[in-house]
Amino acid sequence: MVNSPSITDRVMDVRQRIDEALSRSGRKGEAVQLVAVTKTRTIDEMIGAARAGVDAIGENRVQEALVKHRFWPEDVPTPWHMVGHLQRNKARKALEVFSCIQSLSGKALADTLERLAREKHLTLKVLLEVNISGEESKHGVMPGDAKELAEHVLRLCPRLQLEGFMGIAPLTEREREWRIAFSRLRELGDSLSSSLGQAFPVLSMGMSSDFEVAVKEGSTMVRVGTALFGVRQTR
Ligand SMILES: *Cc1c(COP(=O)(O)O)cnc(C)c1O
Repeated sequence: MVNSPSITDRVMDVRQRIDEALSRSGRKGEAVQLVAVTKTRTIDEMIGAARAGVDAIGENRVQEALVKHRFWPEDVPTPWHMVGHLQRNKARKALEVFSCIQSLSGKALADTLERLAREKHLTLKVLLEVNISGEESKHGVMPGDAKELAEHVLRLCPRLQLEGFMGIAPLTEREREWRIAFSRLRELGDSLSSSLGQAFPVLSMGMSSDFEVAVKEGSTMVRVGTALFGVRQTR
């Protein structure tokens, strides 16, 4: 009988695939952070992933994250990132568990997070979620509006540490379309970096089906669920 691979094996396997993609694209030696996306997963699966050395836990619903976070062991320092759409009325709760919001997509949410961070005397890492797929249904600021939002955060939200950008590739099997979307996000990041005179080190792009393509296009952070934990049951 063949045992199914442990979470440690799967983390190592994903890391290895990331390293191979880095080598193939002339980025050997560069680092890519691995975020384990844990929606629908049990707390034990999440702790297993954290102990296996993923860089962050990614959740996409505040309510689910709050429930699970209560069981999170204090001796596991892995940070939690919000990767799903965040409503302003959930922002206060979100700050109880997340140290990074990857889905900042508007000024009003930025202002709310700034106010809460000031009140709690903390700084909060944020990424701007950019709609790189062109699909109406996707969240995120449109590429043409990203500069204005980035300027807003830099000038008016000193408690928010703008580290970079997050994007989700279009829902397609075509690798070429993934590549176009990812390279668009990288180019946007480069161009904002030079026009705003500020380094944005994080490009969060790539999920289970497309993270190797994303790494080839410059990703510095991949968000992986299925490849670590298996297929999700629909909720
Ligand atoms: C679910 C999710 C992922 C991970 O998806 P997989 O295909 O399971 O790897 C990544 N990013 C976001 C924003 C998600 O909601």
